[in-house]
Amino acid sequence: MSPLAPALTINTTFTNAVVRAVPARRIQREDIPVARRSSPPPRPSRGGGFGLFLACLLVCGGSVAAVLFGPELLARLNQESPTTISGLEISGLEQRPDADGRLLGHFPYAEVISAQLMVIEPGIELHQDAGIAFDSMRQAAAADGVDLRLLSGYRSHQLQESIFFDVASARNQTAQERALVSAPPGYSEHSTGFALDLGDGDSPETNLSEDFEQTRAFRWLQDHAARYHFILSFPEGNPQGVSYEPWHWRFEGSADALRLFESARRLALRPS
Ligand SMILES: [Zn+2]
Repeated sequence: MSPLAPALTINTTFTNAVVRAVPARRIQREDIPVARRSSPPPRPSRGGGFGLFLACLLVCGGSVAAVLFGPELLARLNQESPTTISGLEISGLEQRPDADGRLLGHFPYAEVISAQLMVIEPGIELHQDAGIAFDSMRQAAAADGVDLRLLSGYRSHQLQESIFFDVASARNQTAQERALVSAPPGYSEHSTGFALDLGDGDSPETNLSEDFEQTRAFRWLQDHAARYHFILSFPEGNPQGVSYEPWHWRFEGSADALRLFESARRLALRPS
């Protein structure tokens, strides 16, 4: 990933936020004709000709300015948007992000660009750096008689949105309650392609449950995952306040991954 890539992908998030705001704006626009109809018709004046000329000048001038400066304005907006992600709000959520950018404990994450994804299992993709490391780790585990299973990898913001809101509503959870066990869209490590959920093929009943810590796979991971640059994202009592997830690991073995998880790592290292 080039140094510019995170900023570009963050722009995608920002663009989504803008797109989401469109319906509201559209409603306002539809209101305009109603307002016009209710206002009295303009009185004819003697300066009508000059007024028309002035209006023409404004419209033509505006169009020329838009053509000349439009792309530049857009580029400036895009450059400024990385700072906007810290204030990114999620529609349907009352909560606002904290000063450090976290929303309900979760840090904001950009979505990996699809060219950097690789398919690991049918329907499961990872960032290629994490994918290659995971493949080596899984082989090493297999050599030790441990059946490491990949349960989940990359998730798009869109999928995370449905996981967050649909599951919350199905389980009658508030956003706050849901955030303890799932990140709001735009705030999941899974969207980076560097995070994965692991299970033990010999104990599938422990999948995505705290009981996973009782499995051989978990004990093997504790002893060997660091060698493959995987760390447990949400250990017990983590400072982010996210519930303990022994199955959720993230890759920190590349400059891009390190940069992405810098805030989370700093918070974890801060003495309490
Ligand atoms: Zn996970």
